[in-house]
Amino acid sequence: MPLTRHHATRRRRAATTLLASAVSVCLLASGAPATPLGIGDRLFPHLGNPGYDVLSYDLALTYPGSNDQPLQAVTTIDARVTADLDRINLDFAHGTVRSVDVDGRPASFTGAGEDLVITPEEALDEGRSTRITVRHTSDPAPAGREGGWVRTADGLAMANQADAAHLVFPCNDHPSDKAMFTFRITAPDGHTAVANGLPAGVGRARGATTWTYRTPHPMATELAQVSIGRSTVLRRTGPHGLHLRDVVPAAHAAKAEPWLARTPGQISWMEEKAGRYPFATYGLLLADASIGFALETQTLSLFEREMFTDPGLPAWYVESIMVHELAHQWFGNSVSPRSWSDLWLNEGHATWYEALYAQEKGGRSLEARMKAAYEASDGWRAAGGPPARPEPPEPGRKIGIFRPNVYAGGALVLYALREEIGRTAFERLEREWVTRHRDGTASTSDFVRLASVIAGRDLTGFLHPWLYGTATPPMPGHPEWRAAARDATPARRPVAPAHRLDASRE
Ligand SMILES: [Zn+2]
Repeated sequence: MPLTRHHATRRRRAATTLLASAVSVCLLASGAPATPLGIGDRLFPHLGNPGYDVLSYDLALTYPGSNDQPLQAVTTIDARVTADLDRINLDFAHGTVRSVDVDGRPASFTGAGEDLVITPEEALDEGRSTRITVRHTSDPAPAGREGGWVRTADGLAMANQADAAHLVFPCNDHPSDKAMFTFRITAPDGHTAVANGLPAGVGRARGATTWTYRTPHPMATELAQVSIGRSTVLRRTGPHGLHLRDVVPAAHAAKAEPWLARTPGQISWMEEKAGRYPFATYGLLLADASIGFALETQTLSLFEREMFTDPGLPAWYVESIMVHELAHQWFGNSVSPRSWSDLWLNEGHATWYEALYAQEKGGRSLEARMKAAYEASDGWRAAGGPPARPEPPEPGRKIGIFRPNVYAGGALVLYALREEIGRTAFERLEREWVTRHRDGTASTSDFVRLASVIAGRDLTGFLHPWLYGTATPPMPGHPEWRAAARDATPARRPVAPAHRLDASRE
């Protein structure tokens, strides 16, 4: 997983502006040194920037035909200005910026920490809209930490979660600022480019093809996906005519097909649980690379190709990883976390449906899995923090914030809630959650509030110890369950496999 540098000295002046765009943000007067900013995320204080709301990104990328050279790129950002700005900070940390225009006029720019700090000719007033055009390179060479472009055997893919989209393109790199995306990818003949969303045109000229894709739904930067490779695109139809497409290295298409053919049935199963699939398309991207995890990039989940061509992996395991990433399309993608401390809402739900599927389709007991998680839970909390208040990522630790406390630990919170309010209310809550917050962002307190509404009683007193306590509360209905003695050493892997396969492979 992406490593993060700690920015202990990074300014936190904007910390209180997170989620509060009404609070006026007083940025530095021009002439003062450029400073990296953030929106004060507790786990990644340097991510995002105050003073604007991105409406759309247009990314034009030109692939040179080899994945060890930079791509030429133009990123165009349309944004609404939410505070008077002398400067605009974007997150961008890995590439060369050639020029920046603001509303068609050249602007000066400089780097500061992991920010690109832009000074437009004229200050921007609150309430107006603005267009920022950045001409830059996008560099697939290692950035000194993981994340961003993934070099595959035949091209490139992306893995930006949680804080690495700004290694690929300039952006407001926080899931609380979702936006529409257009991708225009030019690659030499013989390559196929696919990105999130729906195809919106193909143009051919002089030995190269330009592929355009658009997202008809807003998306967080961390969920962007662009695949460039010698790929085959396999198309099929899902429930109620949903367009599905998988992107597979051409040489492995036949072998992967029996797995890929299971997607429509998995979507139907998830729709029974959570309601309509929230996007216009879905599919799997099989990358020919050892990445050690799978990732729920919106409408096009990223997997290691080997998972589908290695005959040694049990069917229930492969399918439950597929369902995990699919469940994220509702939980994590359509409903994005308001801050990274809400990560358990992503991973807890994805692990929950992964485990439920393994029970219903593979006969693997959910209760046994939850009992084992209960036994490990105090140790996970000691090592990684409570599910809804996880510890910050540690520099040099590969796993970052993606620890068992938010995966099986998060699913355990959902199990406790289902035991407490009953299956009918729980299932109603799940559907209402993804309906109410569709295409938006939501926080842990939103979840507690909605659970209370659906249950018809205030669940704060019940859920807060589960979400924020250092000790695991008693499990409703299972007073005999015991947490094992605390062990400060984190479990090397969750009780059941999470989608981050690094734990099970190392
Ligand atoms: Zn996940």
